[in-house]
Amino acid sequence: MNNRQIVFATNNFHKLREIRQILGDKINILSLKDIGCNEDIPETSPTIQGNAMQKALYVAENYGVDCFADDTGLLVEALDDAPGVYTARFAALHDPSAASHDPLANMKVLLRMLEGKPNRRARFLTAIALVRKGLEPVVIEGICKGTIATVAAGDEGFGYDPVFLPDDGRGLTFAQMKAEDKNAISHRGKATRRLIEILSNS
Ligand code: IMP
Repeated sequence: MNNRQIVFATNNFHKLREIRQILGDKINILSLKDIGCNEDIPETSPTIQGNAMQKALYVAENYGVDCFADDTGLLVEALDDAPGVYTARFAALHDPSAASHDPLANMKVLLRMLEGKPNRRARFLTAIALVRKGLEPVVIEGICKGTIATVAAGDEGFGYDPVFLPDDGRGLTFAQMKAEDKNAISHRGKATRRLIEILSNS
């Protein structure tokens, strides 16, 4: 498996670092920047799985590479599984003056919407779509269940990490955990390990 390379359809530094930490030197992961792709990749599906597949197919078809793409959503029980596909744009959805993709604004809206609600159960879902020449495209999923904290804590990680208390996190938020401890139990860690299994066996 050494010296193989595959494009991860992202330029998100945190995600690239996380996946490279999990993969070690087994496979060389290229970013969109590495292949000279600077365009906005369409992400218009109503589902997390559909968005991942749309991105992976777009890059594979337009750049002639093997590719995988991920999409993650936070699904909160008391909000009927919102924000879901709108996770990155949650604040902007509820407050047009809020910047899209602003993690602090997103967490603020989430905490406000959960005020007074006894059920704070939630889960992260990561879908990874894998598209390789000559093989059927596949979608792999990883789920991490937990609870939304009442106040943000910690400064590691990214996104909603400061308000997500994973079930097996010993009372710490993702943002209070070391990267490798988060990877061991996270939605993306689980999906990525399944991705590696598939890449190793085919
Ligand atoms: P994306 O699909 O991975 O870009 O993620 C969509 C949204 O979920 C963004 O707002 C991210 O910040 C958030 N998100 C994705 N993964 C994580 C995570 O591991 N922890 C916290 N937030 C995340």
